[in-house]
Amino acid sequence: MSTLAEYAGACLNLALSAHQLGQFEALSDMLLDWNQRMNLTSITAPEDIVVKHFLDSLTLTTVVTRFDGLRLIDVGTGAGFPGLALAIAFPALEVTLLDSTAKKLRFIEAVGEALQLGNIRTLHARAEDAGRDKSHRACYDIAVARAVARLPALVEYLLPLVKPTGQAIAMQGMTAYEDANSAARAIEALGGELFTIEEVLLPALDNPRYLIVIDKIKKTPRQYPRQPGRPTRDPIQ
Ligand code: SAM
Repeated sequence: MSTLAEYAGACLNLALSAHQLGQFEALSDMLLDWNQRMNLTSITAPEDIVVKHFLDSLTLTTVVTRFDGLRLIDVGTGAGFPGLALAIAFPALEVTLLDSTAKKLRFIEAVGEALQLGNIRTLHARAEDAGRDKSHRACYDIAVARAVARLPALVEYLLPLVKPTGQAIAMQGMTAYEDANSAARAIEALGGELFTIEEVLLPALDNPRYLIVIDKIKKTPRQYPRQPGRPTRDPIQ
């Protein structure tokens, strides 16, 4: 994990301890091992795991200055990105990893045990149901997602989960500015306001990535999120 240490230091000004680098190494090994038995990731070269999973997840540090003591939910976490990487890098951050696919959460739970991560919990649910459940609605400082849905639907997953004064962050590709335009009405209807779109560059990758940061400025109206499936089928516009 020396590459991760170098990249995290040089690109993100983030110092990872030897213990944390060991945890990332163990996570990489487990990901490759479990991936032989279930479909967790198409990224399988160890150096790609470092850049496209670990470092990409940690780019959230460019828009969040302090994670300690915060509650973060990673919606549609899959094999645990970005949430698991953030939980390793910030032991004082409480991370909830939500996915509708139980078997991916079993992988995350096994990682949590093996790495003795005391700051994660998994949530097997649809985002639309979690957003209506009072033990999750408006309970998080940050709701984040990577590669889960198009932005107009994604904001309906994320913003109901965020406390007023918190933030929803969508990790997007090249279409980030168009995405933000297409989601403008949805963001407003859900009580959000676009704060910034931050471009991030990762080593050895040509295309930049973008972090779309949305402030929650008002309570989300009670009618949102709508029934499971509705945000993608019929996005707010
Ligand atoms: N975020 C991970 C990453 O970037 O590596 C996984 C991305 S994967 C392409 C999308 C994940 O979102 C899948 O694991 C899927 O089960 C989950 N997902 C999609 N829609 C969802 C919803 N409405 N509620 C909960 N999970 C959802």
